[in-house]
Amino acid sequence: MPAAPAPRRDAAPSPGRRPSANPWRIDLRELGRRAGALQELDRTAPAPDGWKVELIGVPAGGEVQLHLRLESVMEGVLVSGRFDVPVEGSCARCLEPIADTLTLPVQELYAYEGSTTEATSEEDEVRRIDGDFLDLEPLARDTVVLSLPLSPVCTEDCSGLCVDCGLRLDDLPDDHTHETTDPRWAGLAERFGVPSDDPLASSPGTPGDDTTKEN
Ligand SMILES: [Zn+2]
Ligand SMILES: [Zn+2]
Repeated sequence: MPAAPAPRRDAAPSPGRRPSANPWRIDLRELGRRAGALQELDRTAPAPDGWKVELIGVPAGGEVQLHLRLESVMEGVLVSGRFDVPVEGSCARCLEPIADTLTLPVQELYAYEGSTTEATSEEDEVRRIDGDFLDLEPLARDTVVLSLPLSPVCTEDCSGLCVDCGLRLDDLPDDHTHETTDPRWAGLAERFGVPSDDPLASSPGTPGDDTTKEN
């Protein structure tokens, strides 16, 4: 027979520390357990460190806006609404800095301890209510990280960088080109000719013998 669970050390309010200190942690005593009870929740909470993927993420401490509605249902609390999340990163094509705000809709059931939903679901399937508190941070983190693009772009039609000079193509004139020829190809071009629409057709080519040396 298993021993009785040890008393939770964090269950008792510690003196001098207000439960509202963490804006992600929602005190449900105001909402109550009567099914149908509603509570609007509009607040700002700081993003913790680590909400990021390779090229883009939420700056640590960035202000995440919560626009949520809490609804008491039989099994727990239904959270719906949206997070407005500041993101910073760089364009996957041209490396320009990106700053944007993502608007992420959410709808999630948090199950009461001892509810049927809690009893019939795995720990990682359904979010749980911890006593009188509901922790929104894991929900926000999962929502944000799953929404971050792996290849963010500064604009949908960003042309990226010039492969020759590395400058941003969208900042360059439309006719930007480089009329350089790899010296390894110059000999071949001289021997076999080049297409007539190639600007190199009028160039004198590379002096020297016509054997191509790689080294
Ligand atoms: Zn770009
Ligand atoms: Zn260029």
